[in-house]
Amino acid sequence: MKRILKGSSFFWALLKMNMLPLILLTLVITTFSAVRFAASLNVETQNGLVNLSRTVVTLYDTVYEGEYHTVEKDGTFYLMKGDHTINGNFAIIDSIKEKTGVDISVFYQDTRVITTIRTDKGERVIGTKANDTVVQDVLRGGQPHFYASTMVEDVRYFSYYEPLYDADGACIGMIFLGKPSAEVERLVVSSLSPIIIFGLLTMLIACFVTIRFSGRLVSAIRKMELFLVAIAKGDLHEEFDQDVLARRDELGEMSRYLIKMQKSLQKLVEQDILTGLYNRRSGEKILKRVCDNYAKNGTPFCVAIGDVDHFKNVNDTYGHECGDVALTELSSRMKEHMRGRGFVARWGGEEMLLIYDGVHLDTAVTYMQDLLESIRTKPIAYGDVELNVTMTFGLTEGNGDKIEHIVRDADEKLYQGKNSGRNKIVC
Ligand code: GH3
Ligand code: MG
Ligand code: MG
Repeated sequence: MKRILKGSSFFWALLKMNMLPLILLTLVITTFSAVRFAASLNVETQNGLVNLSRTVVTLYDTVYEGEYHTVEKDGTFYLMKGDHTINGNFAIIDSIKEKTGVDISVFYQDTRVITTIRTDKGERVIGTKANDTVVQDVLRGGQPHFYASTMVEDVRYFSYYEPLYDADGACIGMIFLGKPSAEVERLVVSSLSPIIIFGLLTMLIACFVTIRFSGRLVSAIRKMELFLVAIAKGDLHEEFDQDVLARRDELGEMSRYLIKMQKSLQKLVEQDILTGLYNRRSGEKILKRVCDNYAKNGTPFCVAIGDVDHFKNVNDTYGHECGDVALTELSSRMKEHMRGRGFVARWGGEEMLLIYDGVHLDTAVTYMQDLLESIRTKPIAYGDVELNVTMTFGLTEGNGDKIEHIVRDADEKLYQGKNSGRNKIVC
């Protein structure tokens, strides 16, 4: 028989079925939120830089009256605003950086003349150049421009460049405002972390619920499986779990049918079809159990074999069907007689095996006399016919002998009874 592999068990199937869509959903939600959030942050950063750039330009116009122009001194070009030298004048850009966290640089042509950006050693990166794209777009093109990625001294920035014009309207330099990308990314990650944590938590809870729920489901299925295995091995008296049986779902329904199946099989295998008594196989099993109980606990028992007297005559006179009716009626009387006293089995033809469990011989004799009397005195009705039947019994007490010896002893006594006039008990 094929074994159930761990990975292909019902439990794993349930776990996969529940967890895979959830993992996918969490991934999709997280990715979607990340992309959307990053995009909106990009726009927000861009707007922030544009607005701030206007403020800076206005501030310069307000603080330093006059136009942008350059002055050459000892071979060096200085960027001026009116009478004020921009070079070396960090007050405005430093205070804005302090308030907003945004880096600012002022360019003369493509060269930084003042900046808030510093190297690892703390030196301002004055003298560094704008890249070719910026020069092309802003300096030559004369248009302000936003860039999602600009490298300044190995640091990536979201940046906005605004051109500066002199009195003739020629582009003389630029103002740069930049926010390190890492800062923005950190913001994305920190804003996404609640979503990620929520997703993970949801997955954990779903995992826990799945394991608990499918655990119960799988345990019920496993119990059904074990029950079926026992039946397949021939154990028709295996007990079934009451909790599973009480379930109100399909498993509970299937369990109830399993019990019905067990009972049907018991009936088919253990009962005699005509009389409803135990068949010979069951009789032998019960006898063995009773003998074992005597050997183990000393519980007394008696065994009787009964045979209907002149039964052939019943068949011959009234027909086989009448014989069947008589046998069935006798069987139900014997079954009733044995209730609470032991067991009765159809031993073969019209012979019955009676086992008195926990009973000594003298008591068994008393019981049997009642039975004999009831058979003798109560005729069996078959249509208009009233049949008067008698039975003969051989009775013996269990004494630790082998089962065959006990049965043979009862059988011998039965034949003694048959040979000595019938309708009696020989013990
Ligand atoms: P005695 O036992 O008193 O010696 O006489 P008897 O006529 O009963 O003897 P015997 O054992 O020879 O006959 C038993 C008869 O029981 C023969 C058989 O046809 C009949 N018999 C056995 N089983 C059944 C059954 O299931 N139904 C019917 N109708 N008859 C059965
Ligand atoms: Mg007979
Ligand atoms: Mg017989």
